Amino acid sequence: MGLNDVNLLQEKIKTAPGCPGVYLMKDASERVIYVGKAKNLRARVRSYFGGTDSRRMIPFLVSRIRDVEFIVTDTEKEALILENNLIKKHRPRYNINLRDDKNFYSIRIDTKEAFPRFQLVRRVQKDGARYFGPYSSSSSVKETFRYLNRIFPLRTCRDLELKTRKRPCMEFQINRCLAPCCGLVADRDYRKIVAEAILFMEGRACSLIRQLRSRMDRAAEGLDFEEAARTRDRIGAIEATLEKQRIVSASFRDQDIFGLYREGDRIQVYAIYVRKGAIIGQRGFPILKTGMESSGALSSLLKQYYNTGVTVPGEIIVPEQMEDARVMEQWLGEKKNGRVSLVVPRRGDKKALLAMALSNAKNALRAEEKLEANNEEVLDTLAKALLLKKLPCRIEGFDISNIGGQYAVGSLVSFNRGVPEKSGYRRFRIKMKEGADDYGMMREMLERRYREGVNMPDLIVVDGGKGQLGVALSVLRGLGLEGVDVCGLAKESRAPLAGGLSRIYKDRDRVYLPNRKNPLYLDRHPRALLLLQRVRDEAHRFAITYHRKVKEKADFRSVLDDIPGIGKARKNALLAYFREMDTIANASREKLAEVSGIGKAAANSIFEYFQAQKNETPG
Ligand code: SF4
Repeated sequence: MGLNDVNLLQEKIKTAPGCPGVYLMKDASERVIYVGKAKNLRARVRSYFGGTDSRRMIPFLVSRIRDVEFIVTDTEKEALILENNLIKKHRPRYNINLRDDKNFYSIRIDTKEAFPRFQLVRRVQKDGARYFGPYSSSSSVKETFRYLNRIFPLRTCRDLELKTRKRPCMEFQINRCLAPCCGLVADRDYRKIVAEAILFMEGRACSLIRQLRSRMDRAAEGLDFEEAARTRDRIGAIEATLEKQRIVSASFRDQDIFGLYREGDRIQVYAIYVRKGAIIGQRGFPILKTGMESSGALSSLLKQYYNTGVTVPGEIIVPEQMEDARVMEQWLGEKKNGRVSLVVPRRGDKKALLAMALSNAKNALRAEEKLEANNEEVLDTLAKALLLKKLPCRIEGFDISNIGGQYAVGSLVSFNRGVPEKSGYRRFRIKMKEGADDYGMMREMLERRYREGVNMPDLIVVDGGKGQLGVALSVLRGLGLEGVDVCGLAKESRAPLAGGLSRIYKDRDRVYLPNRKNPLYLDRHPRALLLLQRVRDEAHRFAITYHRKVKEKADFRSVLDDIPGIGKARKNALLAYFREMDTIANASREKLAEVSGIGKAAANSIFEYFQAQKNETPG
């Protein structure tokens, strides 16, 4: 750092505002490497340079700081919100970045809709809808979802189907839906069931049961025995569901419990979710690698976690006191629209729950370490077997999928230390039209991925043999990126023998490497081969899924394009109603006319079009 820079930085620190706000620390290339908030910016920033901040990461951070920027806020809570947003924007190296690749299921209901329905979603959005969860196990969330549909007869169909249906579907016949699609239920009655379902999801089943009991009694007194029997069955179903939940807290509160286990710079946080005294889910967060003290790391994680829109409970149990606990309580209270307490328990139920979360955190870290050690060993074997320049910590795999050059797509999958990293996945719609062969498509995809030369992997795996490998090498050479290792993985199935015969081999994968005439067989390193196969198979799966999507869309549109009088709106209505082309092709005139916007004339045209096609098809 030049003398001028030192003076400038010292001057900035000296004149830092003595009020709440956010500070952004930058390195020599002006990259933001740390974002923090403070009640008093001047005092906080001086503590970094005056040696009074004893956090382990400070010496590393300070040695890299070349500039500091301040943003003043009116309150500490505003600073907390701004800090969160800036961390999300800059992803600074020395902050905790919650890269939560695991998208847990939540259950969503949007009460703003005319006839709300429950949906299973992977992403919680800030859209004003209610979200319940997240649920760590997909089987438990699916079970809850099934209960919901069984107990509360709300619609399960999509919005377009709700609007376009002329007759109720099967759900109505089996008493699982009140058929708002056809106006068979009054808004008020539907809303009542929505409110009951929400009570159930909030864990307030006891008050729900009380309400239902009095409704049942009223119905019986009014001699409406059908309604009384329906309500009795619903009470029974709720009680059976409750019996399966494990009550762990006599306080019957909503609580999130965060256990934290640390080994050196590695921190594992494990959460247990309790609703009305029963555990509804638990999960481990991705391991944090940081020199930051545990309470600071936990505070950063909680801020980022609750900023994703997940449900905020009334009580959050943590293992140690956090410096900014009070301001966090305020911020969380606003999110919840109620009081939120951050509690460090000393005894009783809460302490026992925390102990459970801590022991789970410890187990999760140990399990992860074991997995990493195994993966490290496999990476090392692979590096030695293929004579790679580096340990293949980050591997990218490519595949293409098409039918005779049509609907051509490509896929890129990314593996970090042997584990798929979904955030690195990418799909390509192949643009080239001329000479669309497999090699050309692979070339286009690789060029599009690597032309910027950023975030390069340690190893590239292409699906195929010498040809595909040659394409990859020539793309990298053309882009001046020859330093990256590349291999091709091809399946061997048969070999020609004299006399036009062929000898069938068991499928055996061959690895093609640059500057090597013959392929390599990794029979002696089965786990290393398995890793390459997983990369190849995952790329294949990802490409095929995308290809199907593209093809289905195109098929659907192109067939309907041939029918006179079927425009975009009608195509969409047909798609929403029937979902599949075969169902449309086999639908009767009457069924087709049920779709909203498809009058008798259009239904006739569609019906006749498919009849004509069937008559033309031999056999
Ligand atoms: S189509 Fe009608 S009956 Fe079927 S789920 Fe939707 S609203 Fe209910």
